[in-house]
Amino acid sequence: MTGEKTIFKKIIDQEIPAEIIYEDELCLAFKDVNPQAPTHVLVIPKREIPSMAHLKSEDQELVGHLILTVGEVAKILGLENGYRMIVNTGTEGGQTVDHLHLHLLGGRAMSWPPG
Ligand code: IMP
Repeated sequence: MTGEKTIFKKIIDQEIPAEIIYEDELCLAFKDVNPQAPTHVLVIPKREIPSMAHLKSEDQELVGHLILTVGEVAKILGLENGYRMIVNTGTEGGQTVDHLHLHLLGGRAMSWPPG
């Protein structure tokens, strides 16, 4: 980490706009600016955690909350036919923003394996 704010921290701090779908004291869900499916939302913790690889055992409750929030957002957005949750982690995992985020993708049939 360089000490510079990530783009997601700037969204949390309301320094840049985002299309927010859901918010509570622990997390924020907003639309991905470059959607890879008809519905593409990112769920992030408000606390700065760079990636899944940085999670500690004491983060268990927060992680559960983030995953349950993905499910809640999927309900809010009417994804009753299913959806995919992805957590890219590190360089080889395809992570480009160093703030933990859960992708929620839906609104089309997904293929497997992902690229
Ligand atoms: P990653 O590749 O898993 O790290 O995902 C980062 C995601 O953040 C990508 O899907 C980007 O399109 C998305 N993204 C980057 N900047 C913004 C923004 O300012 N608002 C919303 N989404 C963003």
